[in-house]
Amino acid sequence: MVKAEGVRKSFGLLEVLKGIDLEVRPQEVFCLIGPSGSGKSTFLRCINHLEKINGGLLSVDGELVGYRRKGDKIYELKDREVALKRRDIGMVFQRFNLFPHMTAIENITEAPVQVKGESKADARERGMALLERVGLADKSKSYPSQLSGGQQQRVAIARALAMKPKLMLFDEPTSALDPELVGEVLDVMRGLAEEGMTMIVVTHEMGFAREVGDALVFMDGGVVVESGNPRDVLTNPQHERTRAFLSKVL
Ligand code: ADP
Ligand code: MG
Repeated sequence: MVKAEGVRKSFGLLEVLKGIDLEVRPQEVFCLIGPSGSGKSTFLRCINHLEKINGGLLSVDGELVGYRRKGDKIYELKDREVALKRRDIGMVFQRFNLFPHMTAIENITEAPVQVKGESKADARERGMALLERVGLADKSKSYPSQLSGGQQQRVAIARALAMKPKLMLFDEPTSALDPELVGEVLDVMRGLAEEGMTMIVVTHEMGFAREVGDALVFMDGGVVVESGNPRDVLTNPQHERTRAFLSKVL
């Protein structure tokens, strides 16, 4: 579903991704961990076309999405192609990023109607089913300010799912939540995983990575330091840097 080979990304002189190699298979829950500043969010943003890579190869869903290699012809998607591709990728952020002036159901139906041209009635029917699925059928008319952080994040997940994505990206979806609200969001994500959604999850929730993850990558300083089965990496890390990081978060 996602294949990165030597992916590089710089901001000016700052090289943030220094050659990332990894592969995410269909239906996999792929967990990405690592210290702050290691390039996790930047990598997700490259997958989602929010950033253009400066080197290496990156393909999403079998298509080359950003490709740039020294000496080769530069291949970049046109803006219109990017817009089309982005529809297939759902993203959930640390901060819920709901539209504050729209109710929960309006947040969910906005993109299907405006971007995909779905009828309002169809979008609403599916939106209500999605709210039900994230346990918020009774909150359809609530505004984000009337919802808890955990509820807002569940609406944000439903909103992403409304576009019927092939791939879901989660960037520390529970990091901004009070501890007692983390579980309800992780439960929704676990349900999605069980239904076979392909997910890349940046998280500090090692319990989730261990129980739900199919693969885990530890990133530090813009490179993949270690990867493997989450159970193996978490219980028996091979690299000192992984051990040092885990000793702080576990
Ligand atoms: P992580 O998500 O692992 O904490 P990020 O990908 O957010 O790391 O950031 C990695 C590095 O890239 C940081 O040093 C950050 O300051 C830098 N960075 C991220 N986005 C930009 C940007 N748009 N412009 C300049 N520097 C950036
Ligand atoms: Mg980040």
